[in-house]
Amino acid sequence: MTQPLTNMQMRDVEALLHPYTDAVALRQTGPLVIDRGKGVRVWDDQGREYIEGMAGLWCCGLGFSDEELIEAAREQLGRLPYYHIFGGRSHEPAVELAEKIKELLPVPMARVFYQSSGSEANESQIKLQWYYNNAIGRPGKKKIISRIRAYHGVTIVSGSLTGLPANHQDFDLPVDRIRHTSSPHYWKDAKDGESEAEFVARLKADLEALIEREGPDTIAAMIAEPVMGAGGVIPPPKGYFEAIQPVLDAHDIALISDEVITGFGRTGNWFGAETLGMRPRAFSMAKQLTGGYAPLSAVAFDGDMAEAIEANSGRIGTFGHGFTYGGHPMGCAVGIKALEIYQRRDILSNVRRIAPKLHALLDRAAQHPLVGEARHCGLMGGLELAPPGRKGFRVGGKVGPRLSAELLKHGVILRPIGDTLAVCPPMIIGEDDLEALFAPMEAALDATMHWARAEGHL
Ligand code: PMP
Repeated sequence: MTQPLTNMQMRDVEALLHPYTDAVALRQTGPLVIDRGKGVRVWDDQGREYIEGMAGLWCCGLGFSDEELIEAAREQLGRLPYYHIFGGRSHEPAVELAEKIKELLPVPMARVFYQSSGSEANESQIKLQWYYNNAIGRPGKKKIISRIRAYHGVTIVSGSLTGLPANHQDFDLPVDRIRHTSSPHYWKDAKDGESEAEFVARLKADLEALIEREGPDTIAAMIAEPVMGAGGVIPPPKGYFEAIQPVLDAHDIALISDEVITGFGRTGNWFGAETLGMRPRAFSMAKQLTGGYAPLSAVAFDGDMAEAIEANSGRIGTFGHGFTYGGHPMGCAVGIKALEIYQRRDILSNVRRIAPKLHALLDRAAQHPLVGEARHCGLMGGLELAPPGRKGFRVGGKVGPRLSAELLKHGVILRPIGDTLAVCPPMIIGEDDLEALFAPMEAALDATMHWARAEGHL
């Protein structure tokens, strides 16, 4: 039986269209209205407490209501609440943050360009690739390779890079020039008896075949998340990037690392590219860049690109790309503070210390008959649900949300991605809170299994 909606819930469904929501079902249940947060916890408007196991949307690495981040925002708002960096203007927070980002990146990068979101960062990446290839006299080298199950955003081009059906269906995506190669999801996609090494060799061959089919001279770049996030938390099999990097290098195809989730410590290094052995020519960053406290994203690209792009802007008389809020002073001030905190409080060490604990908890949960596979890398993980002995349900996307709803009853917020339960706690989480996050898992899995059986999903 569903409860009658509260006044706030009724106002909500009359006023908002919610992202990633079944609007028809929401009219019955109403949204969960979150009112405040502190540390790794949030409270709803009825005063109920939850552990936030997803750091919001993979972004609140420092948890909620960090006083230093709040103060950095307040100070900047008091001094210069807005200025832009168009047409020869600048401000110190934009410069200082770009310098800090360049220092932290594992591969030397020449320039930083700002936007507000991860989608816009990837939109900029593709425009920069096209502009660069025109600038150096390669107008035919424009296609971009992405991967099935990738998540790179939802704008027209970033949504095209995303390799998930829900982001394409009825949106008339993907647009031209985007190609998707196979997904590095060993558990789901490996053939019977195929070893991890054989699987990697097959993915490499798939990529080579795609490049051959399209023509290497028509392909500008490949974009990849070091660990796939919103596609189901999928760390690549061992040796994956080591296998594909030479293929890209051989055809002068730039690798773009989408570090929107993995950037700034999430995998135990500053960037996922370090953890996964990638040598990117460009990086996309957002989310933990400001700990989620301000909408800000950045792309960084190498010296070759910088030289050609800047020279071309000289020929044309301008660089015709930029966002009103790209490099927003408050966002940059918060970003500077967030990076300083990651260093001063040694957040990376906490990630490295806590990650094995998270992995053990996920592996233990995987003993449950409803869990097909546990996946993890650093402080991110996923539990993929499946009927015993199978790789997926007949009707996908029903059982995962049910598990998430069961956990919510126990005061735990974890996000279903189809039938995978994603886990991505704030990077400041301690052992006790991590235990608390997993405490109701067994009971919630049992209840979900009971429900799934009754509904005919098993
Ligand atoms: N890239 C990756 C890897 C992401 O995880 C996301 C968001 N989850 C995006 C891009 C898009 O970011 P945004 O929602 O800020 O547009």
